[in-house]
Amino acid sequence: MIIGLIKEANDPRVALVPANLAKLKPSGIEFIVESGAGANAFYPDEDYAANARVLGRQEVLQQSDLLVSVHPLPETDWPLLKQGAILVALFQPFADPDIVPALEKQGIRAFSLDMIPRTTLAQTMDVLSSMASIAGYEAVLLAACNLSRYIPMMVTAAGTVKPSKILVLGAGVAGLQAIATARRLGASVEAFDTRQAAKEEVESLGARFVEVEGAVDDRGAGGYAVQQSEEYLQRQRAEVQARAAKADIIITTAQVRGRRAPLLLPAATVEQMRPGSVVVDLAASTGGNCELTQDNKIIRHHGVTIIGDSNLAARLPQDASLLFGNNVANFLKILFKGDVPDFANEIVRESCISVKETESAPIA
Ligand code: NAD
Repeated sequence: MIIGLIKEANDPRVALVPANLAKLKPSGIEFIVESGAGANAFYPDEDYAANARVLGRQEVLQQSDLLVSVHPLPETDWPLLKQGAILVALFQPFADPDIVPALEKQGIRAFSLDMIPRTTLAQTMDVLSSMASIAGYEAVLLAACNLSRYIPMMVTAAGTVKPSKILVLGAGVAGLQAIATARRLGASVEAFDTRQAAKEEVESLGARFVEVEGAVDDRGAGGYAVQQSEEYLQRQRAEVQARAAKADIIITTAQVRGRRAPLLLPAATVEQMRPGSVVVDLAASTGGNCELTQDNKIIRHHGVTIIGDSNLAARLPQDASLLFGNNVANFLKILFKGDVPDFANEIVRESCISVKETESAPIA
């Protein structure tokens, strides 16, 4: 089988790094790589050439049995594909409802890396977690660079500066990495998440979990959330807003798959923040957690800098590609049984978004 790797149009990352090719090659895979595919992530053609043929884009598109990329291959490239070619990428069918019908119409079998079930078995293939972790780390560094103040406490001959307060809203993978990074920088960190399980994780990283007294105990509910009273939820929301108004940096990461991101930070709260403060909104691409966020823009409102960026992993392209590549390589290892996708495997079944197992699409 020939696996092709192409250069991303608008992202410095690359879906496989040279070390992945060296590991996968003994299993009989032949690799072809578009010239310059890894250049923006600092993986030069020469490093790929040890285990691949480095070709022009058109040749890669025409000769590959399977093509891997970070973002979906542009539709303008589809007519060049071999009959029965398979695509592997982050298709995000929940965010782009047109993608599956378009792939089906062309008879292209596609596996979407974001649809891999988030089970223990699939952890090594979980690109969402790898990229979210980088984004959480990068969000804090970006905020620090835009903050008009120190993050750690500073005791100097000229005076003492108090540590900054950082509030993290949404304590999933990105939020927890943001907390860990903020703690390492010496910030005083608070966090909130609607999942009660997040409380323990937040506290284990040395941050305070924002909560109010009077929650219905959910410990007997087998890990499921229990309905809290409206009065409790209102007090909880008020507490989060009060903490937000006092924060120097707010990192928001709350997402609900397939839906608009929850609005957690109204403009009125931002207006109460001290000028010179910073909001980094990682949910910008799905509408933003902050009412004022503009996707892919940095704006200033009442002296507060608001950064809307859901693709922060791309700011660390070398390590992001390394981890993305490892995730993809682990997925490729289980994808096939002989020459056909192993649909008996739940991970393969769940991640296939078009031309599924019941339909026929033999590899060329
Ligand atoms: P995500 O990116 O979908 O959301 C980020 C966080 O926002 C989540 O923790 C969510 O609870 C929170 N959130 C949603 N609505 C909110 C609101 N209104 N207010 C505050 N917070 C809100 O989530 P994620 O980071 O991809 O992962 C979430 C969970 O899944 C974590 O517990 C993580 O450990 C778990 N997970 C498990 C595996 C695995 O077992 N393989 C892999 C990845 C993630």
